[in-house]
Amino acid sequence: MLAADFGNLQRDVEMVNNSDADWFHIDVMDGHFVPNISYGMPVIQAMKKHATKPFDVHLMIEKPERYIEDFAKVGADIITVHYESTVHLHRTLTQIEDAGCKAGVVLNLTTPVSVLEDILPKCFMVLLMSINPGFGGQKFEDITYNRIKKLRRMIDEQGLSTKIEIDGGVTDKNIKQLVEAGADVFVAGSHVFKSENPTETIKQLKQIANS
Ligand code: ZN
Repeated sequence: MLAADFGNLQRDVEMVNNSDADWFHIDVMDGHFVPNISYGMPVIQAMKKHATKPFDVHLMIEKPERYIEDFAKVGADIITVHYESTVHLHRTLTQIEDAGCKAGVVLNLTTPVSVLEDILPKCFMVLLMSINPGFGGQKFEDITYNRIKKLRRMIDEQGLSTKIEIDGGVTDKNIKQLVEAGADVFVAGSHVFKSENPTETIKQLKQIANS
């Protein structure tokens, strides 16, 4: 939703409601963990009022443990926190679960996927950043493919059903290759909202991914 038109938020939320998209992806930035500031609880609450699909809330904030309950309260269904942002990751994931949400971990582009080996059973999902987080509209980084393959191997070896989500620069040009590498959830902001027909663009992405 970072790429949505905030002057027409209800319209854009309804577009997603009526599209083939499965979830809303909500990027929260604090101006510390990432250079940019996006939006906070009141805007999420406003979106939630009109939304009919789950909220996948991606916290790009320092010490996210300070705000987990607040995000749960305004409608988060899934909350992902950056490995790099919280010292006691296990405790933070437990806090997310206790708040009634599904818990996930995000890795920056160069944080090795191996750091998640022990915590994987606690992850509903792992989000791999495929850009440097902080802004929409950036170009996809190719090192992501190998990272997906490694993570997929770790998940399979442990017999888990943890999902792999990719965030940043996902388009109709790379989504198939990302599926083949082992990813199963895709965030597409600019590619969808900057297209002429967002609903059709979402439909195409899903068709390519499932083909
Ligand atoms: Zn995100």
